[in-house]
Amino acid sequence: MDLTSPRVIKDIATRFGFTFSKGLGQNFLLDSTVLDKIVEAADIEDGVLEVGPGFGVLTKHLAQTGKKVVSVEIDRRLFPVLDYTLEEYDNVTVLEKDILKTDIKKLLEEEFQGGRVSVAANLPYYITTPIITGLIESKLPLKNIVVMVQKEVAQRICAKPGKKDYGAITVLCQYYTEPEMVCTVPAGSFYPPPKVDSAVLAMRMRPEPAVKVKDEKVFFRVVKSAFAQRRKTLLNCLQSGFSADKETLSKVLEGIDISPQIRGEKLGLEEFAKIADAFLERGIV
Ligand code: SAM
Repeated sequence: MDLTSPRVIKDIATRFGFTFSKGLGQNFLLDSTVLDKIVEAADIEDGVLEVGPGFGVLTKHLAQTGKKVVSVEIDRRLFPVLDYTLEEYDNVTVLEKDILKTDIKKLLEEEFQGGRVSVAANLPYYITTPIITGLIESKLPLKNIVVMVQKEVAQRICAKPGKKDYGAITVLCQYYTEPEMVCTVPAGSFYPPPKVDSAVLAMRMRPEPAVKVKDEKVFFRVVKSAFAQRRKTLLNCLQSGFSADKETLSKVLEGIDISPQIRGEKLGLEEFAKIADAFLERGIV
């Protein structure tokens, strides 16, 4: 059964009386080369967690590695379809769950008993950011996260300082992971086609964060404040985020060789770390 064939997808939809939900981001992938690239980038060790199997096209590719696959799907109408499309695989478990309401740590313990797990998914675009940030912030024993996302999201996460795409989510992702854009995928590679182009993003979890900071909370508060108002200088942004006067903040920034007049989006992770540590040292919180 070739789930990358639009004719097969349409036949299955007719057979099961299935209608595609835009609200749940149901755009199914049709390109087998891209599916192979996702599986390759996932480099599965102990098992893989998939978010949103849909009709099971990626699930099948993942299952063919012989490793354990656990797929979380919110839409119960897909379960009879998945029973049919994944019939021949005994290494796949499909769970009816909303990924945003799932205790993933517990799920990983129950299903993979502490193994190093990859996440692979063609993500529903309406919840891309909460899924990615949820996965990387909760310090799970993950090996990597390989996801199909809107092209702009992949560009933002891989952006370099000073580029217009660079933002708080870039810093968050680059702090915990090494992100890489694997390939771009045109809208026509999905059924039904979405309105935007997509990209496969591979994020390898770092064994240690990219920079050392004394307090992660302060670090992320600095980052959040620095990007909160993009037109303002770093000094003005930080003043809105922290309770200290401009003079004190200026002195602290100058003391660590960072110009108070610079824009936050020019700073790299090292510089954000320096600011956070200096703030902590001076009791600016
Ligand atoms: N993996 C399939 C593929 O590549 O063709 C389907 C991908 S489709 C873009 C997104 C899938 O995520 C759909 O099956 C949708 O029902 C499911 N989904 C949407 N919201 C979800 C949620 N909150 N939790 C789990 N699955 C969700």
